[in-house]
Amino acid sequence: MSSPIDLLYEPFSHHDLAQPFDPNLKCAGCGAFYSMDCPLREQNLWSCLFCSRSNPMDRTPLVSSDAYTLTSERKGTFERRTVMVIDAVCGPHELDHLIATLCNAAASKDSELTCVITIQDSGSVTVHNTVGQKRNAVFSIDDFMTHYNLDKLNVKHFEKKLRATHSTSYWFAHDSLKKQLQEISKTAKEGSKSKRGKRCTGLALFIASILASQCALSTCCHIVSFLNGPCTKGAGEVLSRERRKHMRQNYHFDSENPNSKLSRSSWKFYEELFKKFKQQKSNYEFFISSLDQIGLLEMGPLVNSSMAVSQFDSFNDERFVRCFQKYLRLRNENAIYNCKMKILTAENTSIVYEIPDYVLNPKNLSLPVEISLDNRSTKNSVQLQITFENSEQAYTKIETFVLPAQPKTDLFQIQKIIAIAMKKMASQITGDFDYSSKHTKELNKQLASLLRQVQGIDKDKIIEWCYYLYKSPILSSRNTSPDERYLFLHQVLNSSRNVCLSLCKPLIWNYNDSKHDWVVLDISLARTPMFQDGNTTLCIDGGSYVILRIGERFQREGQEFCCKLLNDLQRFTQPLYVETEIGGSQDRFLKSKIVPFDASDKKILDTEDMTFRDFFNLYTSSTENK
Ligand SMILES: [Zn+2]
Repeated sequence: MSSPIDLLYEPFSHHDLAQPFDPNLKCAGCGAFYSMDCPLREQNLWSCLFCSRSNPMDRTPLVSSDAYTLTSERKGTFERRTVMVIDAVCGPHELDHLIATLCNAAASKDSELTCVITIQDSGSVTVHNTVGQKRNAVFSIDDFMTHYNLDKLNVKHFEKKLRATHSTSYWFAHDSLKKQLQEISKTAKEGSKSKRGKRCTGLALFIASILASQCALSTCCHIVSFLNGPCTKGAGEVLSRERRKHMRQNYHFDSENPNSKLSRSSWKFYEELFKKFKQQKSNYEFFISSLDQIGLLEMGPLVNSSMAVSQFDSFNDERFVRCFQKYLRLRNENAIYNCKMKILTAENTSIVYEIPDYVLNPKNLSLPVEISLDNRSTKNSVQLQITFENSEQAYTKIETFVLPAQPKTDLFQIQKIIAIAMKKMASQITGDFDYSSKHTKELNKQLASLLRQVQGIDKDKIIEWCYYLYKSPILSSRNTSPDERYLFLHQVLNSSRNVCLSLCKPLIWNYNDSKHDWVVLDISLARTPMFQDGNTTLCIDGGSYVILRIGERFQREGQEFCCKLLNDLQRFTQPLYVETEIGGSQDRFLKSKIVPFDASDKKILDTEDMTFRDFFNLYTSSTENK
């Protein structure tokens, strides 16, 4: 008999010491690494925890703990390139601000080569040539062959056209890049009043992938897109150009609505595109303004790396500038590539586990991992191995531990269970492209079984967590657009445990006089009179936003504390920051987001959602009857 155990694995949340790779530490039989629990035998042998094989050693193995990292030289030199996809279908101001930010970044010492592709209002996509604009490669969606070969994902057709104008000269060194970008800022053009812009995002992303695929396999290629609106022409189309026609809504996914069909075929196109270039391991990243109208949900298959999407109201937003700077810093200092993970257990040795290939902010990497174990055994050893590279070295991170047969359930454990459930549900929705309300109902059943799973702990606590999950965009599409919902799911999948939990149930920080520091209030939000108090400044961290609710006391301390949260490099994407006075309109919005509504709110809002009381009663009675 074996039953799976769920783990939340956060390989980089703690720092451990690195030491040079030593082949003596690796078992020749099963590939497991030495751990401090391995019995040492005479004649310089250590015995493997997983296959019991005796392995020779020159000297006593020296590792500092059961989690350690081995370093080795990376094969070949590290090269990184960027393909920028700039959407020029927008107002001149918008493009000016975007270009200014990109130019600032290009001015830094970075020497990597960059390719620039623009999406033009005419339904064309331009690949800019370093020799001059006469040599630019221009593809128009109105051209029959372009349209036809894009649908077929026929790389050869496009390669031929790109080669005809000297393919090597599409890559700009950083000195010429700035000049090129400034040229582009003149090309902004908004769509006509009567019709939406003719924007071929799918075509641009396909061409960007082709250019990335022409680099050596060892090159890390980032395809970074800056988008302002929906794709309206050719493969990837999510919306008609007719202004009177609207984009798909959540309820469209419940039927064979033409909008949801368009949506599905666009998603299919991006899925095929991604498969086609999988070998190349390009990293797609998106900076988008005006979220609801982009069609981000359909681009889901491309969003393969961690925290690949950031959204702003406009590129003129200070938050965009900060976010882009953070992105570059993370890419230069923290990003890891070619990540692979393996799990070893005594039962079924060595399972390769899917994890993101490329991780921008490793400290946030938090993976729900399922391990099958033998119930008869009391001591279940598990080893997790992750290999990865950065620009300098290759690494193998090893962590060995014993899983308890019956995990204890405390508050920490509840939070872990909730985070795992959130991540699993989010990946079911995005992975299967199933946004229907029927699927949501099935997921709600999973939520109910969660409550049965957890025994012997404070039931109120876990019901409260489940209520917030029930109200979150994972299980409720009310008041969120499909793109917003997708972005939320993406954040859940790629956030650390704490940020993931705060996306569901915001953390409320309060200044503690005696400790002279900010502490999280551990109170039931369902019954708190806290928001009646106009005296105390509170800081509310909702994962993707930080709100300072200014009271009479500790205003300055509150601002400093929020600043600290916002400047944290690992907080990517940059949270939205709002300061609100108590009693103002934003304060009411805040309360509606945080405090579960009661029967009278339900009446005012005229909603079918359960109140916390209903939810609580339903779940306490259904679990007691079991
Ligand atoms: Zn072994």
